[in-house]
Amino acid sequence: MGAAIRHFTAIGPGDQVFTVNIERDFRYDPYRDFLVCAHCGWSPSLLTTRRLDAMAWEHLADSHEASRGRAAQENESFRKARGVALPLFAVLFVLIALLVFLAS
Ligand SMILES: [Zn+2]
Repeated sequence: MGAAIRHFTAIGPGDQVFTVNIERDFRYDPYRDFLVCAHCGWSPSLLTTRRLDAMAWEHLADSHEASRGRAAQENESFRKARGVALPLFAVLFVLIALLVFLAS
Protein backbone atom coordinates (compact mmCIF):
# COMPACT_ATOMS: atom_id res chain seq x y z
CA MET A 1 0.00 0.00 0.00
CA GLY A 2 1.14 3.50 -0.70
CA ALA A 3 0.97 6.62 1.38
CA ALA A 4 -1.92 8.99 0.76
CA ILE A 5 -0.35 12.26 -0.29
CA ARG A 6 -3.37 14.16 -1.47
CA HIS A 7 -7.10 14.07 -0.81
CA PHE A 8 -9.95 15.18 -3.03
CA THR A 9 -13.19 15.67 -1.16
CA ALA A 10 -16.67 16.62 -2.28
CA ILE A 11 -20.04 16.72 -0.59
CA GLY A 12 -22.78 14.38 -1.77
CA PRO A 13 -26.41 13.71 -0.85
CA GLY A 14 -27.20 14.07 2.84
CA ASP A 15 -24.10 16.20 3.31
CA GLN A 16 -21.93 13.13 3.27
CA VAL A 17 -18.31 13.84 2.44
CA PHE A 18 -16.68 11.61 -0.16
CA THR A 19 -12.94 11.28 -0.53
CA VAL A 20 -10.65 10.16 -3.32
CA ASN A 21 -6.99 9.81 -2.37
CA ILE A 22 -3.81 9.96 -4.36
CA GLU A 23 -1.57 7.26 -2.96
CA ARG A 24 2.14 7.32 -3.68
CA ASP A 25 3.91 3.99 -3.77
CA PHE A 26 7.60 4.43 -2.99
CA ARG A 27 8.43 0.80 -3.70
CA TYR A 28 8.75 1.77 -7.34
CA ASP A 29 11.64 3.76 -8.71
CA PRO A 30 10.57 6.31 -9.72
CA TYR A 31 7.59 6.22 -7.40
CA ARG A 32 4.10 5.72 -8.79
CA ASP A 33 0.91 7.52 -7.89
CA PHE A 34 -2.48 5.82 -7.72
CA LEU A 35 -5.97 7.23 -7.48
CA VAL A 36 -8.05 5.34 -4.93
CA CYS A 37 -11.63 6.01 -3.86
CA ALA A 38 -12.11 5.58 -0.11
CA HIS A 39 -15.72 4.47 -0.56
CA CYS A 40 -16.05 2.00 -3.39
CA GLY A 41 -12.53 0.81 -4.12
CA TRP A 42 -12.44 2.57 -7.48
CA SER A 43 -8.86 2.74 -8.73
CA PRO A 44 -8.53 3.58 -12.41
CA SER A 45 -5.67 2.79 -14.71
CA LEU A 46 -3.44 5.84 -14.89
CA LEU A 47 -2.11 5.01 -18.31
CA THR A 48 -3.74 8.15 -19.55
CA THR A 49 -2.82 11.73 -20.17
CA ARG A 50 -5.82 12.97 -18.22
CA ARG A 51 -5.24 14.98 -15.09
CA LEU A 52 -5.63 13.09 -11.81
CA ASP A 53 -7.75 15.79 -10.22
CA ALA A 54 -10.14 15.85 -13.20
CA MET A 55 -10.58 12.08 -12.92
CA ALA A 56 -11.15 12.32 -9.15
CA TRP A 57 -13.82 15.02 -9.51
CA GLU A 58 -15.52 13.08 -12.27
CA HIS A 59 -15.68 9.92 -10.19
CA LEU A 60 -17.04 11.76 -7.14
CA ALA A 61 -19.75 13.37 -9.25
CA ASP A 62 -20.67 10.33 -11.37
CA SER A 63 -20.52 7.55 -8.79
CA HIS A 64 -21.37 9.34 -5.56
CA GLU A 65 -23.32 12.36 -6.79
CA ALA A 66 -20.85 14.50 -4.87
CA SER A 67 -20.16 17.67 -6.77
CA ARG A 68 -20.56 20.33 -4.10
CA GLY A 69 -17.84 21.81 -1.92
CA ARG A 70 -14.93 20.37 -3.86
CA ALA A 71 -11.66 20.64 -1.97
CA ALA A 72 -8.18 19.32 -2.63
CA GLN A 73 -5.89 18.92 0.34
CA GLU A 74 -2.33 17.80 0.69
CA ASN A 75 -1.65 15.23 3.34
CA GLU A 76 -0.52 16.99 6.52
CA SER A 77 2.58 14.94 7.24
CA PHE A 78 3.66 15.01 3.61
CA ARG A 79 3.43 18.79 3.57
CA LYS A 80 5.39 19.03 6.80
CA ALA A 81 8.18 16.90 5.41
CA ARG A 82 8.54 19.25 2.47
CA GLY A 83 8.39 22.27 4.77
CA VAL A 84 11.46 20.95 6.59
CA ALA A 85 13.43 19.95 3.51
CA LEU A 86 13.19 23.27 1.69
CA PRO A 87 14.77 25.54 4.36
CA LEU A 88 17.46 22.88 4.83
CA PHE A 89 18.39 23.10 1.17
CA ALA A 90 18.39 26.88 1.36
CA VAL A 91 20.84 26.83 4.28
CA LEU A 92 23.05 24.32 2.47
CA PHE A 93 23.05 26.46 -0.65
CA VAL A 94 24.12 29.56 1.30
CA LEU A 95 26.90 27.60 3.02
CA ILE A 96 28.25 26.30 -0.29
CA ALA A 97 28.08 29.77 -1.83
CA LEU A 98 29.98 31.12 1.18
CA LEU A 99 32.65 28.43 0.90
CA VAL A 100 33.13 29.11 -2.80
CA PHE A 101 33.35 32.84 -2.08
CA LEU A 102 35.93 32.34 0.69
CA ALA A 103 38.01 29.94 -1.37
CA SER A 104 38.39 32.34 -4.28
ZN1 LIG B 1 -16.05 5.79 -5.33
